[in-house]
Amino acid sequence: MPPVATRSMIQREIGDDRICVLTFDRPESGANIFDAATMSELGERVDAIERDNSLRGLIITSAKRSIFIAGADLKTLLKQAQTGELRDFIAEGQRVFNRIAALKIPSVAAIHGACAGGGYEITLACDWRVASDDPVTRIGLPETTLGLIPAWGGSTRLPRLIGEDNAAEVILKGKLYSASEALKMGLVDEIASREQLLDAARRLIGKGKRPTAKVSPSKGNTPVPSDPKSSRARALAVITTGTANPVDESLKLELDAIVDLGKTESTQNLIRNFFLAEKYKKGTSNTQFEKVAHAAVIGAGVMGSGIAQWLSSRGVTVILRDVNRELLDRGLANIEKTYADAVKRGLMTEEKAKQGRARIVASTAPMELRDVQFVIEAASEKIDIKKEIFRELSMQAGSKTIIATNTSALPVSELAHCTVSPDRVIGLHFFNPVSRMKLVEVVVGKETAGDTKENALVLVRQVGKLPVVVRDSPGFLVNRVLFPYLLDAAALFEAGVDAEKIDNAMTKWGMPMGPLRLIDEIGIDVTVDIAATLEKAYGRRDRAPAILKSMRESKLLGRKGGGGFYKYEGREQSPNPPPPGTGSTAASESLAKDDLAQRLMFLMINEAARCIEEKVVESPEDADYGMILGTGFAPDRGGPLRFAEHFGLNKIVEEMNRLAQSDEKFVPCDILKKHSREGTKFYQS
Ligand code: NAD
Repeated sequence: MPPVATRSMIQREIGDDRICVLTFDRPESGANIFDAATMSELGERVDAIERDNSLRGLIITSAKRSIFIAGADLKTLLKQAQTGELRDFIAEGQRVFNRIAALKIPSVAAIHGACAGGGYEITLACDWRVASDDPVTRIGLPETTLGLIPAWGGSTRLPRLIGEDNAAEVILKGKLYSASEALKMGLVDEIASREQLLDAARRLIGKGKRPTAKVSPSKGNTPVPSDPKSSRARALAVITTGTANPVDESLKLELDAIVDLGKTESTQNLIRNFFLAEKYKKGTSNTQFEKVAHAAVIGAGVMGSGIAQWLSSRGVTVILRDVNRELLDRGLANIEKTYADAVKRGLMTEEKAKQGRARIVASTAPMELRDVQFVIEAASEKIDIKKEIFRELSMQAGSKTIIATNTSALPVSELAHCTVSPDRVIGLHFFNPVSRMKLVEVVVGKETAGDTKENALVLVRQVGKLPVVVRDSPGFLVNRVLFPYLLDAAALFEAGVDAEKIDNAMTKWGMPMGPLRLIDEIGIDVTVDIAATLEKAYGRRDRAPAILKSMRESKLLGRKGGGGFYKYEGREQSPNPPPPGTGSTAASESLAKDDLAQRLMFLMINEAARCIEEKVVESPEDADYGMILGTGFAPDRGGPLRFAEHFGLNKIVEEMNRLAQSDEKFVPCDILKKHSREGTKFYQS
């Protein structure tokens, strides 16, 4: 039978076997999603099925190449969460899915491609699920990673299907599973090749309705999330109390929870971050620039080896050069280890790792670089060494080769002037560890050409990283915003506040790691060096407190040296006793009365605001997203500027003025004062 309506989202076919197949196929899109129109059309399809007594079964499937149904339309969802209209949309979904679950005929979901959130919840309303064994098939309920819970029956039906504990794991982790993992966990009943998916679904119809099974109750092993208002805590509450109640009651709990969560700033921030990631991934997709096939990396230290590994794993051939044989070998060993870890964690097959390794040619001698499209310099952070390298590269590189530097803080323009074509020089600031950090700051110097920038953006996206464009200025965005915060944490420690107290204040606030622990990771010596560069440009707020310098002198260098603010012995990490010269108890008691997290955060906000004022970045999104990606800044706070607006710019300026009476580094910058005075904001909406 031909499809009922050509522009519809869901096509219906009824074969001679009287099995109705509903195929999701959103017009002019590679993806199926649930928006209000699709849900209403699904409702009509279910009406027809309920009326047709001749039907023997229902199969739900998708016509897309790599997506079954990707989930709810998050744009609509965010808008409704903001305006408080979420309840109707969710309730309607629950009603339609309930009607599928209540059909008298057996139903089967035939899943090929991404099947996430609402996309998996519709399959839970079916009796049976069969998934294709294709790698594009990924199944799961990622709602809690967006500050939501599965509320189209996911939190209710999954525990009834696989038991409370397994359901809690799937829902609280929010991860997507391959077909074989999904089979093992009971998320699907069978797997089949893509070609045989519908045949397998038809066979499952033959099994009739699924018998109701007894729910296996929780053994109480799932750790209860610390914040009782978080989406994970709300999801767990529905899972554990919901199974003791009838389905309808449990669905009501789901509905109340998602409506409450939708109203919170943190959920809205997490959904916004999702859209930002999409935006930074795609960019304006400039197709006129060719992909990069050949690159060279100069310096095989921590960063150089990390960058070489990453590029090679993404199909780029890499010449890796260092002046020091021993360090080059150590770099190659690092590369080996990163590949081995990726294989061990199931991120890559052994075959792919082997191909990747083979793309790297390492050498201590100068090599022909004429055919290389990009050279990335990642040698020691010394301006003279780098200048010499740039002079040499300028002679060796081809006429179109772009020379990039991974410097953390040196001026890109100064390096550019050592070459014959400063227009083809740019900064590509990767973060450590390269294999895990997604951000790359693309640093545009005074003379960097537009094409050079576009080419760099293409390279960064090609290798799956997310670029933020920044103006060439000391510390660029991320280190500039981070350092006043790190240095104040060290100053608080110097004044006698306990290291753990400082770090705990920030992790409780939502940071992935406290500032002193982060200094230990960066290295005390590197921190002092970067601070010195920044202090030259920005003064007082980037001055390293004396304690950092004395720690460096006494070889307390942080994790790499076995100790810094903390001792690192095996897995044990305990605070080091404060060295002599740290502050008096009286001073620390008076400081501890301050809200530590607030005071530290104000410094970050002030610096992020200055980056807007001085056009280091183009938009508040760039500043916020850069900090989230580059430092793990609490994603549900939405970044320093988004948080500042939520907290109240007026209140911040007032508090900072108070703190500034004892330390000038707290003086709020002009743009903060202006917004506070005029009632305006960084974000338009
Ligand atoms: P590193 O000390 O681990 O490695 C530097 C390497 O450069 C050494 O192996 C050294 O032998 C080599 N080298 C020195 N002179 C050279 C030359 N003339 N030709 C070729 N190789 C030469 O340093 P790293 O931590 O990898 O940092 C490298 C660059 O990346 C620096 O500019 C640094 O500021 C920047 N960076 C570092 C980090 C980090 O967390 N480590 C993060 C971002 C950026």
